[in-house]
Amino acid sequence: MATKNIEVVVPPREPHYVGDGFRVHNFIPSAYRLDMKRMDPFIMLDYNSKFYFPPADKPRGVSVHPHRGFETVTIAYKGKVAHHDSSGGGGVIAEGDVQWMTAASGVLHKEYHEENFSKQGGDFHMVQLWVNLPAKDKMSKPKYQSIANAQIEKITLPDNSGTVEVIAGNYQDVKGSATTFSPLHLLNVRLNKNGKAGFEFPENYNTALLVIEGSITVNETESVPTDHFVLFENKGTAFNIQASENAVVLVLSGEPLNEPIAAHGPFVMNTKQEIIQAIDDFNHGKFGYLEA
Ligand code: MN
Repeated sequence: MATKNIEVVVPPREPHYVGDGFRVHNFIPSAYRLDMKRMDPFIMLDYNSKFYFPPADKPRGVSVHPHRGFETVTIAYKGKVAHHDSSGGGGVIAEGDVQWMTAASGVLHKEYHEENFSKQGGDFHMVQLWVNLPAKDKMSKPKYQSIANAQIEKITLPDNSGTVEVIAGNYQDVKGSATTFSPLHLLNVRLNKNGKAGFEFPENYNTALLVIEGSITVNETESVPTDHFVLFENKGTAFNIQASENAVVLVLSGEPLNEPIAAHGPFVMNTKQEIIQAIDDFNHGKFGYLEA
């Protein structure tokens, strides 16, 4: 089993605001070497590193906007997000929960801090990942998977190392909670100090991790601090991580779709013509209706 080595460690870029509620560091696609082709099928990763929002009467967030052609995956580490979409999906994503929204042919949605969280203020810590859809599924029906933390399969690691939450794909022989359109693995790894976990993914899968809390050592050699992103080489299959202090690590690995990508803001399709069609459909109200 050949070792999968680190290709690059990427520090967080300067944060920017999405609406007024998400203070994010973008990794995919804007960081050096993390473009959509390289990270295929992961086409966007915005990271709201832990940030304190003071109390507010009017919830902060992002108002009604469309998506077409991919899935948005929101993982909450701290804080709460209320979400509504034009296909009737909605709910609250609280600490430890995951929301997997398949925009596919198109939805309108809005994402706000949940009302009580907003009133009280508090630490907010989230990941939003966009997973591209295969061409054949881009115009399928929108779908919404709300995955509460209690529903997520958890594997206890040996030697009091911690736990692995299998959001999608599998870890060892435990299958994840979310259904996906292409083969991929999304794991939330919670390690105790000195806790260790090993991973194995096919060589050609694009594989990365983000250190959410604490710090880790990868393959016994490279230390990676909080809020840093690690891209692995497409060589070798196995790597391990060890926590230098209590740590939370998001691990992602997916088989590339290897299809053309035409991206324009909230629309990610295969051709420019399909983007023009998406804009036209949006302008003609074909994404449904959602109250602001
Ligand atoms: Mn959105």
